[in-house]
Amino acid sequence: MRIAMETDLNKIRKLSKEKEDENWEFRSFLKGCDISEEKIDSIVHELYQKVSSEIDCRTCANCCKEVQPVLDQEDIERFVKCSGISVAQFKDRYLVKDEGPEKFVFNKKPCPFLKDNLCSHYDFRPKDCRSYPHIHKRGFIFRLVNVIENSSICPIVFNVYESLKGEIKYYDDS
Ligand code: SF4
Repeated sequence: MRIAMETDLNKIRKLSKEKEDENWEFRSFLKGCDISEEKIDSIVHELYQKVSSEIDCRTCANCCKEVQPVLDQEDIERFVKCSGISVAQFKDRYLVKDEGPEKFVFNKKPCPFLKDNLCSHYDFRPKDCRSYPHIHKRGFIFRLVNVIENSSICPIVFNVYESLKGEIKYYDDS
């Protein structure tokens, strides 16, 4: 498995725009092909290991600038432990309501807790931040809308999705 990596965020943004139609066609291909969901997960997880080992998220931090993580009550209670303010003050100063009961997002981008490209509340960060970019999870083919959205933001997602096209011979078969 050879991976030609792209890590320049400007190029990734541009390429993602250019590849928009192709990315949606590849989504349809993945949904309709006869490769099992488990097999696709296994290929994606292997690609994720390779790609993420070559990308330093601390020098990128683009997710903290472009994505608004969702916080639930548990996330909020953990977060305020290191902030010295109450839950009510925290919600008032930093959060807005998201869809779904008791779900919130930060009220601005980049995240107000990103300092010098690092998370200033790293040990207390929300579950959504811990899990991003979610490529290690099972059920890749059920999250393809988010994968395509995140491929223009996160170099890991971009390179995994691009490499996956080659791995399952999309171009040869189309
Ligand atoms: S809480 Fe930390 S990890 Fe999450 S978006 Fe903000 S800066 Fe990034």
